[in-house]
Amino acid sequence: MYSLKSYVLVVSLIFIPFFANNFLVFVNSITSSSGNQYTTFFNAISSSTNPKASLNSGKNQTTSSLISSSFCDVWDVTCSEEVLGLAQEPDNVEWIKGLRRKIHENPELAFEEYETSKLVRSELDRMDIEYRYPLAKTGIRAWVGTGGPPFVAIRADMDALPIQEAVEWEHKSKVAGKMHACGHDAHVAMLVGAAKILKNREHLLKGTVIVIFQPAEEAGNGAKRMIGDGALENVEAIFAVHVSHEHPTGIIGSRPGPLLAGCGFFRAVFSGRKGLAGSPHHSVDPILAASAAVISLQGIVSRESNPLDSQVVSVTSFNGGNNLDMIPETVVIGGTFRAFSNASFYNLLQRIEEVIVEQANVFRCWATVDFFEKESTIYPPTVNDNRMYEHVKKVATDLLGPPNFRVVPPMMGAEDFSFYSQVVPAAFYYIGVRNETLGSTHTGHSPYFMIDEDVLPIGAAVHATIAERYLNEQG
Ligand SMILES: [Zn+2]
Ligand SMILES: [Zn+2]
Repeated sequence: MYSLKSYVLVVSLIFIPFFANNFLVFVNSITSSSGNQYTTFFNAISSSTNPKASLNSGKNQTTSSLISSSFCDVWDVTCSEEVLGLAQEPDNVEWIKGLRRKIHENPELAFEEYETSKLVRSELDRMDIEYRYPLAKTGIRAWVGTGGPPFVAIRADMDALPIQEAVEWEHKSKVAGKMHACGHDAHVAMLVGAAKILKNREHLLKGTVIVIFQPAEEAGNGAKRMIGDGALENVEAIFAVHVSHEHPTGIIGSRPGPLLAGCGFFRAVFSGRKGLAGSPHHSVDPILAASAAVISLQGIVSRESNPLDSQVVSVTSFNGGNNLDMIPETVVIGGTFRAFSNASFYNLLQRIEEVIVEQANVFRCWATVDFFEKESTIYPPTVNDNRMYEHVKKVATDLLGPPNFRVVPPMMGAEDFSFYSQVVPAAFYYIGVRNETLGSTHTGHSPYFMIDEDVLPIGAAVHATIAERYLNEQG
């Protein structure tokens, strides 16, 4: 996920190579909590909402004893208890944490997730879950259920970031300069955990769950390529989760409608004519033209956009000239823009280009604008379908209890899940990983980012229930 400012909710910044230096913060070390100190928040959640599930926790219950008690045609508390019971079996908790730690130790960047993908496939093989591979280089489309309609998808992203981990713990990244600083390692582990739960309950599924592991969320529009390779074939709805340091462990947050902004970047080259600064009339000054453009760009949002339709245009770089006595030949400026609807987003794109080109002309310069479309750095807004949002809310509320669901505000970050949401009804939601005791309070894309691993079985249970209930309620 992408966020311009580090303090905003979820955290994430899609890595864009040309802007990367801004984000690479190298810190030698930090003292942090180890895995031994994780709290039992998950048990607390289940015991507060599902008394029977809490009885199951801590015991080595067999799968068969759990799956035979209910058909869950109409979802009730027994069904929630069964899913939570499966998720929190001690062996399962250890397995899912182990999985996440393995991925955390071996972070792989966009479209290089070969080992991560291999690990996922080996787990799917062990569970006897079928899949198609590869999609988008390293992606996987697995399925559990009847093999027939309806088809509902749940998705995780697999890529890491070019950041040096500064958290000192037993399972720190073993790859210098690479880190799972956005929590995608947890996303993968939770989705594999969900696949396991769904496989256990396969006889109850009233259709097919498509389980999607995609590459390159942070850079490269992995979701777009997955769709191109058939990830959404037959799929009628899709759901995904992102960890959030804003909410305590296990809290689910989402909202109907626009949740995350569309995000784009631009770079403009202003060309004039070089000349001595003491005789400006013999040159054509691109610094003046670019300066005027920077000011005029601020008028797009402030004067042309509906104040109730949040948008951003930020100029973040301005480079030109290296001689105090010379007017330079060229000036290069660049920045980013955000909006919550496709219409507003593409209007911004068009107006940024017009303003830059026209302001260059005013000062006898000429300008070209690049939006890096070929480098796949444009992310549409992530808009939650109202019905899918209601489904997430209902599932989270029934499974974890009403206090553990929050309606969250939209944020200016971006996420390539938006490509799926443009094709089928979709809902994106957050799951909290904040635990002050552990120190999991840092924003994504921070070298200090860490999660409370107690989130993993909770996330797996939420994923699985969203999919199973969706299928059950379509008939
Ligand atoms: Zn992310
Ligand atoms: Zn991110």
